[in-house]
Amino acid sequence: MPALMGQMMQMPLLISSLITHAARHAADTEIVSKRNEGDLHRYTWKDAELRSRKLAQALARLGCEAGDRVGTLAWNGYRHLEIYYGSSGSELVCHTINPRLFPEQIVWIANDAADKVLFFDLSFLPLVEKIAAQLPTVRHFVLMTDRAHMPAASVIPDLLCFDELVEAEDGHYQWPEFDENTASSICYTSGTTGHPKGAVYSHRSTLLHAFGSALPDAMDCSAKDVILPVVPMFHVNAWGLPYSGALVGAKLVFPGPHLDGKSLYELFEGEQVSFSAGVPTVWLGLLTYMKANGLKFSSFKRTVIGGSACPPAMMKTLQEDFGVEVIHAWGMTEMSPLGTLAKLKAKHLKLSAAEQTQLLQKQGKVIYGVDMTVIDDDGKELPWDAQSSGNLVVRGPWVIERYFQRDESPLVEIPGKRGWFPTGDVATIDADGFMQITDRSKDVIKSGGEWISSIDLENIAMAHPAVHEAAAIAARHPKWDERPLLVVVKKPDAQVTSEELLAFFEGRIAKWQIPDDVVFVTEIPHTATGKIQKLKLREQFKDHRLATL
Ligand code: ADP
Repeated sequence: MPALMGQMMQMPLLISSLITHAARHAADTEIVSKRNEGDLHRYTWKDAELRSRKLAQALARLGCEAGDRVGTLAWNGYRHLEIYYGSSGSELVCHTINPRLFPEQIVWIANDAADKVLFFDLSFLPLVEKIAAQLPTVRHFVLMTDRAHMPAASVIPDLLCFDELVEAEDGHYQWPEFDENTASSICYTSGTTGHPKGAVYSHRSTLLHAFGSALPDAMDCSAKDVILPVVPMFHVNAWGLPYSGALVGAKLVFPGPHLDGKSLYELFEGEQVSFSAGVPTVWLGLLTYMKANGLKFSSFKRTVIGGSACPPAMMKTLQEDFGVEVIHAWGMTEMSPLGTLAKLKAKHLKLSAAEQTQLLQKQGKVIYGVDMTVIDDDGKELPWDAQSSGNLVVRGPWVIERYFQRDESPLVEIPGKRGWFPTGDVATIDADGFMQITDRSKDVIKSGGEWISSIDLENIAMAHPAVHEAAAIAARHPKWDERPLLVVVKKPDAQVTSEELLAFFEGRIAKWQIPDDVVFVTEIPHTATGKIQKLKLREQFKDHRLATL
């Protein structure tokens, strides 16, 4: 007998449904953007939906057809949001490019994706003028501004004006209905080794991720929230907030290029932001500014911090000095990006504050939709005992199966179970499913066959009052193969010696794991997504002679 089929409406999960929902049910809820032009722009979800429809019309008029890629080089702002919805909603593929990459990388990525249109913010005009001739697939260059801010002349042929394109349309456009597995957007990993690789998301994966990430045990987004994504819209779609924000009908606040401590603080206060998200480094500037000026938040209640390990000292400062709950999260481009978040279970409420803090410092438990486990080098699953450290693998409907235009499957098999995506992270999982990252497999320090977690060392260093930022890397050692070297940026005017800093590790970690040496630098290099560039540091200090040699 054939199975009895469900008798529910067949409605594909499409990105356009998010903005039509927000336009109907959060019609007057605001979207506020600090523009490149310097002023504040405000409108509503209803306005955003109409302009997104007009943009879809304009893209069709420019000759875009289903599946065409539409590139962006842009900060967080309402025009970027309109491109998210106008392109994906009309069956095109939104391709956000990280403008902080080197121009050669940008060219490589835009060519790999074969972008047909390139939208860019005013701040990137000089960059695009430099690379335009190397982008043979791009038929239209669109400057994301109004007529008044268009340059009098540009080397870019037929440079188009975003507002003019949108305003020329009448908005009589219906979002098309199509297969929910259609590609909606593409993001490239920053490719620390080899060329960047594209992760192609679908409408279905994006909607499921939006549902999952808005849950109370995840980002806990609601219509009561005022959400300011500090995480850029070019960093894995601002971790899905432009979608989950529409799903719950929250007010969105976009900082544009104005990411310094003062500008961010004024925007948080001025718009009464309740929730935010970003990588650890972005908070350093904001907190330094606030401390220097004796400022407090009046509305900011919680933030997701992820992208790299959040130092416990930063969590403590945000929580105790500024009253902001930190939700530590882990994910990656290949996972849309959210995988785990640290939120307590009911049974944990009985634990002491110190024990709770310890759990909340981990990367946390999965959201429904993602499954994970740890395996050894032979693919055997390891116990969830908080001790057994292994390769973290994941699977789920918002995890990639393969990379854009690459034939080989990145997936690995676990005996008896379907394909898993190897994250490249080394982690432990405890009996309650709390995962803790020890390291990226390529950053782990291998001393005499034993592993030392660079994250553990950095977390301890960051707790020292004189340390602004710290990175632990492997330095070559003739006897032990590798030994930890600590690279430190001091706080302004702080005094500390190498010996004092190394003494600070005693009693906080096993003696043999204490770094062999400390080097003080004025700046630690960061990747285009604001993470510490370990590869570059390792290059820089590869010939460092350790004190214990
Ligand atoms: P890229 O590093 O290319 O910008 P992603 O943003 O996708 O790419 O980075 C994903 C990686 O970042 C993860 O595999 C992990 O190594 C690291 N990461 C993300 N969140 C955390 C976290 N909370 N703690 C430690 N590492 C993290």
